[in-house]
Amino acid sequence: MVHKIVDLRSDTVTQPTAAMRAAMQAAPLGDDVFGGDPSVNALQDKIAALLGFEAALFMPTGTQSNLCAILAHCQRGDEYLVGQQAHCYRWEGGGAAVFGSVQPQPLAHQLDGTLDLGEIEAAIKPDDAHFARTRLLALENTLGGRLLPFGYVQQATQLAASKGLDRHLDGARLFNAATAQAAHTGSDARAGARRIAQCFDSVSVCFSKGLGAPVGSALCGSRAFIARAHRIRKMAGGGLRQAGGLAAAASHALDHHVEQLALDHALARRLAGGLAGIEGLQVEAPQTNIVFVDLTGAAKTRSADLLRHLAGCGIQATGLYRLRFVTHLDVDAEGIDQAAAAIRQFFMA
Ligand SMILES: *Cc1c(COP(=O)(O)O)cnc(C)c1O
Repeated sequence: MVHKIVDLRSDTVTQPTAAMRAAMQAAPLGDDVFGGDPSVNALQDKIAALLGFEAALFMPTGTQSNLCAILAHCQRGDEYLVGQQAHCYRWEGGGAAVFGSVQPQPLAHQLDGTLDLGEIEAAIKPDDAHFARTRLLALENTLGGRLLPFGYVQQATQLAASKGLDRHLDGARLFNAATAQAAHTGSDARAGARRIAQCFDSVSVCFSKGLGAPVGSALCGSRAFIARAHRIRKMAGGGLRQAGGLAAAASHALDHHVEQLALDHALARRLAGGLAGIEGLQVEAPQTNIVFVDLTGAAKTRSADLLRHLAGCGIQATGLYRLRFVTHLDVDAEGIDQAAAAIRQFFMA
């Protein structure tokens, strides 16, 4: 039997749609290092307005966006408070420390992914020559596919502000968070994204994840903050020239791919449902588009075998700490059912 390839490694694997390619093809171009690319400028204006900020900056990657944000908030010898599992602490090679001499102060997550407010407060160092200056609280939403409760986001960011800290959101999947939140509140995802974003001084969003653009992120903030980030982006080698084709893809994604995130979330629930009741498999109920699976008991050491079996069935997945299956624009219900059946088959054999 010939299987089609179902790639569940990440929501970054999508191919641009025909309509997105047409938008890229049609984009007017200029040299963005001179501020002269109309498509980049239009995207920056669009995302800043959507999330309620004065300004935005198009970024090649989410990693560079977070790096520029942290270095625009902090000076050498400052520190940022951040979760142990946060991308801008654990998954970005320590960039803020390497390039900016900004030290992270990681905090353990609670079970729901939040950082305890008491621990945040206790981690803020006194103004004393012994200590790094605590300058910034960095949160991430969604974090490992989980939505941070909105009430918590408000409390944590208000606490940070009351202590004189800046607040940065790594919102690589902000629109997934807003979509999950909208499912509870009945509001729409765009308004919800803005509501979350407005709790922060800066927000980084990825277009290259669930929104389905090939490349690109945006960093949003005040005009003064974005001017500092712009200088750092240039220093980091992120000054792009005729980047309008990429910006047009991102702009198309914002216009057309926000609402479909709810379908990705439904597919994740479908996969979790399809894996229910398998002995040796523990499935975390997905809140958004990421399904985490742990092997238990006698199966605990078999994750490499499982991934190999799945590859043989045309199902691509990864797992560094836990197995992870991510839904996105380029998977459908049939592919999800194919994945669930292949996983089930592994445990039946
Ligand atoms: C993917 C991701 C990033 C970084 O994006 P890249 O474009 O891969 O550099 C940052 N934060 C989070 C939460 C992410 O998921």
